[in-house]
Amino acid sequence: MTTPQDTPTSTLPPLPHETPATAEDLAAMRAQLGRDMRGVISIARRCGCGRPAVVRTAPRLEDGTPFPTTFYLTLPWLTLDLSRLEASGAMATLTSQLETDPELAAGYQRAHERYLARREEIGHAEEVAHVSAGGMPTRVKCLHALAGQSLAEGPGVNPVADQVLAGIDGAWPELTCRCTDPTTEDTSEEGR
Ligand SMILES: [Zn+2]
Repeated sequence: MTTPQDTPTSTLPPLPHETPATAEDLAAMRAQLGRDMRGVISIARRCGCGRPAVVRTAPRLEDGTPFPTTFYLTLPWLTLDLSRLEASGAMATLTSQLETDPELAAGYQRAHERYLARREEIGHAEEVAHVSAGGMPTRVKCLHALAGQSLAEGPGVNPVADQVLAGIDGAWPELTCRCTDPTTEDTSEEGR
């Protein structure tokens, strides 16, 4: 049993854009992902149109599965743009940038620690207690996971993701809506 004194009080500032997840949000995420979003704690960031963009998720899903992606990107247009960047080889470039830029590497290490601390605010899953997301702290393996953290936390927390998002039209620092009409939106998992 966890007693209250075993749970440290978080010293992190509140997430700047966090809002409760409504039934409408759950339906919107189902349309975005083509399946139910699991482990939803709250909406950490919304698109300019109000649809969920980044979901804060529980470290353990309802069925007991550990879930390390605490900030899960659901926004289709941004997901697609990041996938295109990944396909163009951006991850290898960013990883080598980390190897040659000590300041960037130090910021990325801090982003990793922040990720873990933020997750501990909502629960603890031993299997992923030291695992953050996106390849942190030394590699860049998933731009979607990194972008989720930056969009949820705001500028200055994850320098790699801040840099990536700054290169995407409408993504940074404000999230401007580029959603397609929901009646014609492609809801398949892969997008187009
Ligand atoms: Zn939108």
